[in-house]
Amino acid sequence: MKAMVLEQIGQPLHLRQRPDPIPQTGQLQVAVSACGVCRTDLHVVDGDLLDPRLPIIPGHEIVGRVTALGAGVEGFEIGERIGIPWLGYSCGCCRYCASGDENLCDTPGFTGYQINGGYAEMTVADARFCFPLAGPQGDAESAPWLCAGLIGYRSLMMAGPDCERLGIYGFGAAAHIVAQVARHQKREVYAFTSPGDAAAQAFAREMGACWAGDSDQPPPCELDAAIIFAPVGSLVPAALRAVRKGGIVVCGGIHMSEIPAFPYDILWGERVLRSVANLTRQDAREFLALAPQIPLYTRVEEFPLQQANEALQALRSGNLTGAAVLRP
Ligand SMILES: [Zn+2]
Ligand SMILES: [Zn+2]
Repeated sequence: MKAMVLEQIGQPLHLRQRPDPIPQTGQLQVAVSACGVCRTDLHVVDGDLLDPRLPIIPGHEIVGRVTALGAGVEGFEIGERIGIPWLGYSCGCCRYCASGDENLCDTPGFTGYQINGGYAEMTVADARFCFPLAGPQGDAESAPWLCAGLIGYRSLMMAGPDCERLGIYGFGAAAHIVAQVARHQKREVYAFTSPGDAAAQAFAREMGACWAGDSDQPPPCELDAAIIFAPVGSLVPAALRAVRKGGIVVCGGIHMSEIPAFPYDILWGERVLRSVANLTRQDAREFLALAPQIPLYTRVEEFPLQQANEALQALRSGNLTGAAVLRP
């Protein structure tokens, strides 16, 4: 099979010919049809995250079809369309796994980070962390659901059930999905983009935002909660200033630049600042059931597998509207 491989941090991926991966006990072998390009992949390639297992095939928004079952696999069929997300393994016995917080597992394995991912024609994955993908949405359109959608959904849940006015900082792949879910739940969406990014602001309005503006400006009204997807630490005090007393600010990214010092009074009033880490399989079941009902629309820009470096660069430079997806 062909694969795009990260061999050294900070270097471009290399196109390599690899033997087709053989499914071990409990694994599915999958022909990859589409794999989303997530900002986390950029953080892996750029060395912002510290535990990659090199060489690694990145990619954790995988849609494909089952081509073989490892020993002991039940509940999947050859030819079935499935999705493979970021959480590729959790131990099942640490205190976090035991209490349903497997996203916080002490010894997790993440797809495209420690476990070879979807920037390839084939992959294998632990069947317990794979999900059937029903519905009429295409493979490329479904791929961003597997991380941008799932993490976005978890972030939205963390914004609280009482959130009627939701701010979203950074309007890319995750935000355009979350905005639709939030609108489906009858919440108002206020979108913040890089100052002057008129295209992203127009996209946000198209996705249902009632207001879109520059991230260095206050919103037109107090917000109940805000989710920060842009990896920019200075947005934390900006978001705290934008939410009401008791409001919640959720940091939805896995990495962020340093957060500048801020006065205590913008946290005062029982405002809450929290991060969201990874996903649980329960998040995936809930979100993947909800997505076709909305129905969720995903804006994607497709790249051939061999152009993974170009896709990463487009994401890095902010030249995407929606989500980049590789097509092996
Ligand atoms: Zn665990
Ligand atoms: Zn991701």
